[in-house]
Amino acid sequence: MIEETPIFSVVAPVHNEEGNLFELYRRIRDVMDGLGESWELIMVNDGSTDNSFEEMLALHQQDPRVRLINFARNFGHQTAVTAGMDFSRGQAVILIDADLQDPPKLIVDMVKKWREGYHVVYAVRAKREGESPFKVWTAKLFYRLTNSITNIDIPLDTGDFRLMDRRVVNAVNSLREHNRFIRGMTSWVGFRQTGVEYVRKPRMAGETKYTLRKMLNLALDGITGFSYFPLQVAIYISFVLAVLAVLALPIIVVLRLATTEAFLEGQATTLSVLLILSAFQFLFFFIMGQYIARIYDEVRARPLYVIADTYGLPSQNVPPRVVTPVQAAEEHSHNISETSATS
Ligand code: UDP
Ligand code: MG
Repeated sequence: MIEETPIFSVVAPVHNEEGNLFELYRRIRDVMDGLGESWELIMVNDGSTDNSFEEMLALHQQDPRVRLINFARNFGHQTAVTAGMDFSRGQAVILIDADLQDPPKLIVDMVKKWREGYHVVYAVRAKREGESPFKVWTAKLFYRLTNSITNIDIPLDTGDFRLMDRRVVNAVNSLREHNRFIRGMTSWVGFRQTGVEYVRKPRMAGETKYTLRKMLNLALDGITGFSYFPLQVAIYISFVLAVLAVLALPIIVVLRLATTEAFLEGQATTLSVLLILSAFQFLFFFIMGQYIARIYDEVRARPLYVIADTYGLPSQNVPPRVVTPVQAAEEHSHNISETSATS
């Protein structure tokens, strides 16, 4: 049985986090109980291949406030967070990583800001401990890059660790894009936002699941999801090349007439210019491809995730099916034939 809706929903995506989950639960429980309001912890098992799910089940049996979503396979961090948000019912929703890099204690500060009237309270990484300089550097570069070329302001050095008011959660949940970049989407919806600082700790057990490839993909989702700038760069390059061409032609003619030496005859020159230009062309094929692939994702309108089963969650909270126009038309005609058959 599901009791009254909780005030707080904590959402934790889990992919192979065995050894972290009991401690995660314990710390979250201590913090949340201290707030004196009802709460739930929604753990999303994102296709773990270790003992994570057994540990999650044990937690659910021990405390029914721990609710579970079990994905049919690994759908990725951002999608796991999305499912947790879809099923959450709290007046405020807190996203937190399951590896204890995000200290649950900070939730107290977040809630304080929320009670002051802020709708989004994100955690700002004042310092990162135990992460490779490469990761810290690429993360920094990424935040600066996305901010300079996208038309939304994503606060610098924030991850997904944040508190969101129900209104924000509803707004973000209504964005059903397939390649999801949650921190961009929370910025995009607006509302009153503020940050609280913390020191990011090393993960408790296990290794990062964000490979370089996954990080690059997330960066591409962030950029393509919120900016047309990469598509527009081509025009600047074409301007520069056009100007060069216009300047080069008369110069070449004058030099040819004025000098007797062989001028610009080498094939090497021609070849390198050609290579540079085709490199640019392939770069823009790639950029266009990135946008086209994402259009394709939207057009297919597949569900964002597939759930194997849930534990402790009301079934009416299953997010609405995405209905394509063709399906809608078919269902409509089906309904008509059914009603005419019964009358
Ligand atoms: N995660 C997930 N699905 C994935 C990869 C990661 O649900 O495909 C979860 C993971 O269990 C953790 C959070 O997302 O709770 C952040 O992942 P991780 O700690 O590996 O990323 P990092 O902190 O290194 O950026
Ligand atoms: Mg981590």
